[in-house]
Amino acid sequence: MASNTVRAAVQTGPGAIELRDLPRPRTGDDDGLLRIEANGLCGSDLETFHGRVPMRGGYPVVPGHEPLGIIEEIGDAAAERWGVQPGDRVALEVLVPCRACLLCLSGRYMSCKHRKATHGYTPVDRAPGLWGGLAGYVYLHPNAVLHKVRGDLPPEIAVMYNPLGAGVRWTSHLGQVGLGDTVLILGAGQRGILSAAAAKAAGAGTVIMTGLASDAHKLALAREFGADHTIVVDEEDTVARVTEITDGELADVVLEMTPLAAQPLDDALRAVRHGGRIVVAGLKGGTKIPLDSDLVVNKALTLVGAYGVDSRGYAEAIRILESGRFPFARLHTHTFELADTVKALNVLAGEVPGEQAVHVAVRPAG
Ligand SMILES: [Zn+2]
Ligand SMILES: [Zn+2]
Repeated sequence: MASNTVRAAVQTGPGAIELRDLPRPRTGDDDGLLRIEANGLCGSDLETFHGRVPMRGGYPVVPGHEPLGIIEEIGDAAAERWGVQPGDRVALEVLVPCRACLLCLSGRYMSCKHRKATHGYTPVDRAPGLWGGLAGYVYLHPNAVLHKVRGDLPPEIAVMYNPLGAGVRWTSHLGQVGLGDTVLILGAGQRGILSAAAAKAAGAGTVIMTGLASDAHKLALAREFGADHTIVVDEEDTVARVTEITDGELADVVLEMTPLAAQPLDDALRAVRHGGRIVVAGLKGGTKIPLDSDLVVNKALTLVGAYGVDSRGYAEAIRILESGRFPFARLHTHTFELADTVKALNVLAGEVPGEQAVHVAVRPAG
């Protein structure tokens, strides 16, 4: 007999998360319920947890925007539409779009202004309340976008569909990385490392990655994920090293993925070749940073803002994960139970002495 309640991590305000039992949603012909196997955590979760980025819809809210799970309940109409059955494993996209506005109809549903929900951000007072991945179950709205994932991958790896999806979209789609290209990735977080893998999967010839001296463990991992060269930015000059590595040809594509820092954007402008592309993915916390626009003109550069990931990015990422081409298990460093969500966030933030986190996931079922 199924319980009438679902255990969830509920954020009640900045810095405050507690466990609560929320009503289990009733599902019908056109919706469903996903039993969460794992929910990945990323830098955005840290920003919203501490309140540096507000929960736009207000509190309380079940956080978690990177859910992976098993279909527990599914209505006939929903099963037909999504092509899934109970027991199937799926990855759930962040946005629940309206599927009717011009942005949705033209493929830009990630920018939909009439979205039905945003997983991990929609508050619990919007029925049926279970909108986040940090819970035993998440509600599958009729408009939800989901992707089947092979059931034999470990959940900690399958849940990497989210950061690898970002790597695929930013590197291959927005960066247009082609065969033999030199790709410079500024920033060695989980997305940076997985972007190295995505670049190699797209045919990049040379991948160069930067990081801080304190990122030594991440730079070492990056080499296992396709980085041919690594640059320690507090010890070496990025542009000089890229010039040396490429024999003066510079990078075809640069991904700028560092949080808050201003220098990397300038490095990107100087380390990219004439006619090259720069994908800007690192948020600077609202700070306006100087930009040498003459370089953009004189080098005929293309700058692209990396907002979100789309279905094609996720689908290609899932295929790369299923291929086993890269040692994904090496990237996963920590698994936590739901009750330890705050600790999981602190470990991800690097605030727990002795713990070197790269990829962190919460597994509600333990
Ligand atoms: Zn995330
Ligand atoms: Zn829409």
